[in-house]
Amino acid sequence: MADKRDYYEVLGVDKNADQAAIKKAYRALAKKYHPDMNPGDKEAEAKFKEASEAYAILSDETKRKQYDQFGHAAFENGGGGGAGGFDFNNMGDIFSDIFGGGDIFGDLFGGGRRRNSNGPQRGSDVRASVRITFDESVKGTSKQITVNFKEVCKTCNGSGAKAGTTPRTCSKCGGKGQVVYTRQSFLGTMQQVSECPDCHGSGKIIKEKCPDCYGTGYVSTKKTIDVNIPAGIDNGQNIRIPGYGEPGKNGGSRGDVILTVMVSSKAGFERDGYNIFSDVVISYPTAVFGGSVRVPTVDGEVEYEVKPGTPSQTRVRLRGKGMPVVNNEGVHGDHYITLVVDIPKHLTGAQKDALLEFEKALTGEERPKKKGFFGK
Ligand SMILES: [Zn+2]
Ligand SMILES: [Zn+2]
Repeated sequence: MADKRDYYEVLGVDKNADQAAIKKAYRALAKKYHPDMNPGDKEAEAKFKEASEAYAILSDETKRKQYDQFGHAAFENGGGGGAGGFDFNNMGDIFSDIFGGGDIFGDLFGGGRRRNSNGPQRGSDVRASVRITFDESVKGTSKQITVNFKEVCKTCNGSGAKAGTTPRTCSKCGGKGQVVYTRQSFLGTMQQVSECPDCHGSGKIIKEKCPDCYGTGYVSTKKTIDVNIPAGIDNGQNIRIPGYGEPGKNGGSRGDVILTVMVSSKAGFERDGYNIFSDVVISYPTAVFGGSVRVPTVDGEVEYEVKPGTPSQTRVRLRGKGMPVVNNEGVHGDHYITLVVDIPKHLTGAQKDALLEFEKALTGEERPKKKGFFGK
């Protein structure tokens, strides 16, 4: 404690710095030295702690005044800190303020996020998935899915207690469902709020359990739901089915089912957004002279007129022949075809002779005889 650094020096700010400057300086230091970013680095840990302490004082105008007047002595000997240390109990709130929500620091400082367990709580969403074919995704389809539907147990009305008995208030948490732990960490004494281990957050202890729901207060039944899957849906997209999730608490509404749609792929078709990509193989004469080819699209076969003198790998856009856009009737993406000129590997004798004739006409020279060149 003897050579404790000046708080302003720690944060690297001027003695007259305003709160915005102090906050900015601390935010930069906290990010740099946070233990999560520097695991096992004792020096970073010490720096983080030092900066946090400086910020806790300088961000509080009352404490800052005391510090300006008395220096570190203002906070020694019971001036708010623990033995030889600094009280970080309020750092959770400071971090929430600095980092918005305090999620990355939540574990470190605890206590920052307290839930009110007595108010209405919406039930949790439940995840489910369904697989459809590529063609079904083009046209849209209807599927039945089965979910476990949790409902309040009618026998015990959700109390979980056997008929004629009533749950008693949990003595560990006094019915609050939460317990506060005080623990020592490298930052000093901290408080952490956790779910009560005895009653698992319900605030009640059930001695004799309801036989119908085994004390949970809920029973599950299988429910089958018809789901409309819109045309154009892509692999991995979700559909929300309201009201089929878990029941709410204290009058809160039910959660939803989040249904993930998995779309099987289709050979030869590649999808990107609402566009479809495919290769179309054309013969050498078609590439040279032009000609008509039939192209399979999600919308059926389309005739495309290849232009004379088309190089291999030419990409062509078939406007509006791609996937239908979800919930936008009549709107489609595009279909891109890549024209690939076919190079034959095996030729008949007649084809070989014709090609040699063509080569001779092209170059004015005859190809030297090479045994087995065309596999003959
Ligand atoms: Zn029951
Ligand atoms: Zn409890």
